[in-house]
Amino acid sequence: MKKRLLLLLLFMVFGFNGVHARETPKQQTLFLNVKIFDGKSDQLISGQDVLVEGNHIVKIAPEIKTNRMARIIDGQGKTLMPGLIDAHTHLTAVKSFDEAIYKYEPAYIAALATEAARRMLMRGFTTVRDAGGPVMGVKRAIDEGVIPGPRIFPSNAFVSQTGGHGDFDLTMTYLSPHFAGQLDKAYLFGWTMTADGVPEVRKAVREVLRSGASQVKIMASGSITGAHDPLDVVEYTPEEMRAIVEEAEKWGTYAMAHAYSDAAVRTAVEAGVKTIEHGLMASPETLKLMKEKGAWLSTQCLNYSKNAEDFGVEMPASVAAKFNEAKQSAERIFKLAKQYDIKMAWGTDGLGSLEVLDTQSQEFTCRKKYFSDAEILKQATSLNGELLTLSGKRSPYPDGSLGVVEEGAYADLLIVDGNPLRDIGLLTQSEKTLRFIMKDGKIYKNTLIPKNH
Ligand SMILES: [Zn+2]
Repeated sequence: MKKRLLLLLLFMVFGFNGVHARETPKQQTLFLNVKIFDGKSDQLISGQDVLVEGNHIVKIAPEIKTNRMARIIDGQGKTLMPGLIDAHTHLTAVKSFDEAIYKYEPAYIAALATEAARRMLMRGFTTVRDAGGPVMGVKRAIDEGVIPGPRIFPSNAFVSQTGGHGDFDLTMTYLSPHFAGQLDKAYLFGWTMTADGVPEVRKAVREVLRSGASQVKIMASGSITGAHDPLDVVEYTPEEMRAIVEEAEKWGTYAMAHAYSDAAVRTAVEAGVKTIEHGLMASPETLKLMKEKGAWLSTQCLNYSKNAEDFGVEMPASVAAKFNEAKQSAERIFKLAKQYDIKMAWGTDGLGSLEVLDTQSQEFTCRKKYFSDAEILKQATSLNGELLTLSGKRSPYPDGSLGVVEEGAYADLLIVDGNPLRDIGLLTQSEKTLRFIMKDGKIYKNTLIPKNH
């Protein structure tokens, strides 16, 4: 009893901070003998060491002094670079949407997503923006350090109109709760919010933000894989879209929109949507508007360079026709985006199976048709890092920059055998070429230690 009184007195005199000040010092990790790709430069930087303390980079300078407990990583002259960022994943879309929502148990999907997250981290992806799906539980387990995986900027449930790309209900037994009070699994399991009209979309966005989304994913046009909607359909009216953007902005974040047709892209950009997903059919005029408004194009190369039969699942004829139509626009949009100097995200949108998600890094080499190796590398690091700052105060990781090697940035670091600024293809052979992976100051892979050590 006396002890407790004494402790209470100590707290009263010194306060909680005084007691906490005796925390153990943060783990230091010093990287020596590395060439640095900082995420932004076209050249590797030599002659600098990098000191990590806890989960942040604290110093970049020659000959840094450390404490005696520091871990020393000899980079053996290899390239130290920021962890990779994928701006468009669906970690829970490890089966087709229909299977994931209606056929399998949510725990099975979560188990596969757990493995998908681990594999992404081991390919060097330390951060992803998840473009929709019930990813919150996986994210929570990763952030708690229970399972390995990238940082996740979650969108959680898609916001979609009835019959839109996020309306997965194949049997059409679902009726809006507005009319019939009946909910389906897509809503109950957190995959989608079907909402029509300004009051409903406001409520849907508020629910999505309540669930912890760092940005709001909306469906603004027809889709290739959608159950009901042809590719050319424009989804949501300008009024609905403005209401969505307004609700997101009131929370200090933004809306990202799935949009294929030019009209859909234009409506979204005019309403204030900040990142256009896919955007394949955007006209030069619409791209000029995107440039003016600083909107990002988050499109994919690998998905549209495949043939319909390469997806490992049989595509119904109607889906294959939509796929081929989109595929024809892909080359065009990359060339136009470069011509109009649109901010270009790097993302993959892998869907349907772990095997498809495993092709993620091939997006690097696919882009070589349009961009230099250095441009592609910057897209997947500093540029994507800049895109993620759009989440503002809703960023789940607000204490440091991502996608860069800078003082104050999060300690998400890779060591690559070779120079990816000259040969981006190195990143497609991560098992061999990625010698070291650190995320949030924690080491997940290190094959730099000499064997006879
Ligand atoms: Zn997607």
